[in-house]
Amino acid sequence: MKMVRHNRITVIILVLVLVLTFYPKPSYAYVLYSGYWSSTAKPSTNVEYYVDSSVTGYNYDTSVSSGASAWNGISLKYGITSTTVADSADIKVFAGDTHDTSWADTLNYKNKTDAGGCWSCSWNYSRIRINAPVYQPASSDLRMKVMIHEFGHAAGMDHETVNKAIMKQGDNGYYTMQTDDKDGLKAKYPN
Ligand SMILES: [Zn+2]
Repeated sequence: MKMVRHNRITVIILVLVLVLTFYPKPSYAYVLYSGYWSSTAKPSTNVEYYVDSSVTGYNYDTSVSSGASAWNGISLKYGITSTTVADSADIKVFAGDTHDTSWADTLNYKNKTDAGGCWSCSWNYSRIRINAPVYQPASSDLRMKVMIHEFGHAAGMDHETVNKAIMKQGDNGYYTMQTDDKDGLKAKYPN
């Protein structure tokens, strides 16, 4: 009787060890803002960005267009194109001196006329600013990464802190879309 109980305890411990060994590790994945591009006024499959003449002045146009198009072809419910009509653009990209240490920054707005941005709103406008004094000395690869990152914010992606991702801050030595970024956009805009 005593032996049987002993064996049972051994089996239970063994099972526990196995379960704990193979239990999936907690996954740290993409982080999403709770806000979203209005799907009624303007479908998120047709988000339009406008490049201000200040960007052209610095010759950043190629990095900007590559950064935007990197988010295409991932979700059927999210697509971005450029427009030459400033007034109707959803996202506007500027370049200048933001007087801080960032390469660039992005703010999404509920309304174009609002004084401040809102990450939890229904968005009608987004503003990307390239900080030329810091952005200019960066390599072309890094410039590209920064623009993909900013257009990620505009799409509704927050910073990733653990996984390899473009939405992770800083220069991490990789400059193209990562699986985590794509998974994040798919989760934000499910097909
Ligand atoms: Zn960022």
